[in-house]
Amino acid sequence: MRALIVAAHPDDEVLGCGGTIAKMAKEGHEVYVAILGEGATARHSDPSQGSGAAVRRLQECSRAVADLLGIREVIVHNLPDNRFDTAPLLDIVRWLEGVLDRIRPEVVYTHHGGDLNIDHALTFRATLTAARPLPGTPVKAIYAYEVPSSTDWAFQSFSTPFRPNVFVDIADTLEIKLEAMAAYDSETRPFPHPRSAEALSASARRWGSAAGVAAAEAFELVRALR
Ligand SMILES: [Zn+2]
Repeated sequence: MRALIVAAHPDDEVLGCGGTIAKMAKEGHEVYVAILGEGATARHSDPSQGSGAAVRRLQECSRAVADLLGIREVIVHNLPDNRFDTAPLLDIVRWLEGVLDRIRPEVVYTHHGGDLNIDHALTFRATLTAARPLPGTPVKAIYAYEVPSSTDWAFQSFSTPFRPNVFVDIADTLEIKLEAMAAYDSETRPFPHPRSAEALSASARRWGSAAGVAAAEAFELVRALR
């Protein structure tokens, strides 16, 4: 089985499905990651100032994380951080269509469309469009993952809340997920931030307890064909 993870920023792939990626890779499946944005320039008031080193550092982290989790390839697009709404949606869709044509994944994982982060919401929309079920499409299933500090911060938003109905047992890969997140050292935060190791672990335990296992990642099934 070939899986593609579509993420808005470097680190979303780990936060949303790091345990599931490591599990799929261990089971012999091919896992690819497409990252739409560069993930760093929103930290600076002038996006052209001082961002190059941070972007390069994030890309190095992505490659280290790919080795750790067993990801075959990380495909990067470099859209401006937290400004995906300045790019024509059609351009994002076309880039993703190119990735889908080349990789031909059977399963696609992407963001929950109701996330607070604008890049996440647009990534969901672009993925759903690029992977629309035209005759001959390789994509048999699309799942949405949550990203702590975005899915959980969309309080009372107009979109539907994250209501997972698919759970992946990550009891054996939770530690690798935490290790991978630690590799994104510029993106981790101390507890009680949702991107802290403690909070990520608590979330895995919480979903695990909902699904009857020691630790789990939670997904919404968006579309499936059997
Ligand atoms: Zn993100």
